[in-house]
Amino acid sequence: MSTQKAQKLDVLTKIFLNLVDRLVSFEHDNPELGKLAVRIVTYLATRGEALPEDKIASALGIEGSEVRKVLHTLFKYALIEVEKEAVDPERGRYENRLKVSPEFVRRITASRVRMVIDVLKECLQELASTAYYVCPTCYRRYTMDEAYDLNFKCPRDDTPLVQPDHSIEVEFLTDVIKKLQDYAAQLSKPGK
Ligand SMILES: [Zn+2]
Repeated sequence: MSTQKAQKLDVLTKIFLNLVDRLVSFEHDNPELGKLAVRIVTYLATRGEALPEDKIASALGIEGSEVRKVLHTLFKYALIEVEKEAVDPERGRYENRLKVSPEFVRRITASRVRMVIDVLKECLQELASTAYYVCPTCYRRYTMDEAYDLNFKCPRDDTPLVQPDHSIEVEFLTDVIKKLQDYAAQLSKPGK
């Protein structure tokens, strides 16, 4: 039954689950916990309602302590929504309920896409400002200053240094960044 449900997940949720898997596995240096996190988030995403911790644990047949460990990491990386539900308002008793809504998934994915865009922009800037030289024989890189000092010759093999042409990469990266920006903008549109 769970595989049937998993198939119904859309692409965004799959991207989101991939992120959940990687972050939780990395945090605990334990791929099993990553898989557990994926099960929990998949369950919440398909249920589409806010559920308390113990219900999640019993529905999935997982130890409460394991669920708590995973939820803690999901909180830490803001990969889960929390709703405070009044259980007994007169005595001030509240219960945290966990949720993974499509809206939330979209928002998190959009912010991740923007992070990728930032990294790509940095790469682009570095490429565009090609302030280094390279030896075509040993592929060693030299800064502009070093190249001047070396009289534009590699000290290892005496090959004349060249300045690499990155116009193709720059064009490619610019295009990818543009596409990702469009994608992020589309994800950020409300009510889609
Ligand atoms: Zn060289």
